[in-house]
Amino acid sequence: MIEVQSLTKVYGGFRAVDDVTFTAEAGRVTGFLGPNGAGKSTTMRVMVGLTPPTSGTVTVDGHRFADLPNPGLEVGVLLDASAQHAGRTGREVLTLAQETMGLPRRRVDEMLELVSLTASESKRRVKDYSLGMRQRLGIATALIGDPRVLVLDEPANGLDPAGIRWMRDLLRGYADRGGTVLLSSHLLHEIEVVADDLVVIGQGRIVASGTKASLLASA
Ligand code: ADP
Ligand code: ADP
Repeated sequence: MIEVQSLTKVYGGFRAVDDVTFTAEAGRVTGFLGPNGAGKSTTMRVMVGLTPPTSGTVTVDGHRFADLPNPGLEVGVLLDASAQHAGRTGREVLTLAQETMGLPRRRVDEMLELVSLTASESKRRVKDYSLGMRQRLGIATALIGDPRVLVLDEPANGLDPAGIRWMRDLLRGYADRGGTVLLSSHLLHEIEVVADDLVVIGQGRIVASGTKASLLASA
């Protein structure tokens, strides 16, 4: 599981994330829901160590994220797939992750197969990929180290309905095997089918959290 405690991120006096506390449990899919600008990406960027919090802590199975010896092996991350690695090929992106994490080379081909990127597609540069292909490559990169926790920012962006179903099944299977999944969206319908729990954020603050059943019943 991954726990966020009293997390605050201030940009030049603006509280983008304001005293946010929630837990994403193992074996469950947690949907992180809120409109654009609510603070989802900022929270996730802090959670995975890309930017320091102003205050607050993030722990993975009780260990502070900052103290994990190889966070890439424990937490798989997909953030802003539209912007990453434009000049590299898909295969190069995965190979870099494989080498950085000290994984066997076969993981690259296993991941390409998992996300249905063909050999010829894997040799094209990411800047020539569709957004859906970038999301699938991002999912492959997040999963390559077989992490216990997945943090995915708007992974459904750019996927067609079949792609969204594919991802839903993938994440469901991953959680059913004991993994922790946190995925964000600004659209309830994108995550309500797959999410077990929901954390709702607005203007940097948590406005509701709990099981999907309890939240949708009270909505
Ligand atoms: P979401 O992911 O929910 O759309 P973000 O976390 O991207 O929201 O943004 C939350 C708020 O913080 C927005 O008002 C955004 O403009 C602001 N923000 C995000 N990153 C920065 C930054 N690096 N500097 C200043 N403001 C930022
Ligand atoms: P930090 O200082 O927390 O590391 P940065 O200032 O490096 O954050 O910005 C992180 C990312 O957010 C960058 O890609 C930056 O371009 C982007 N960013 C900056 N200002 C904003 C903003 N107002 N809203 C959304 N994103 C922003």
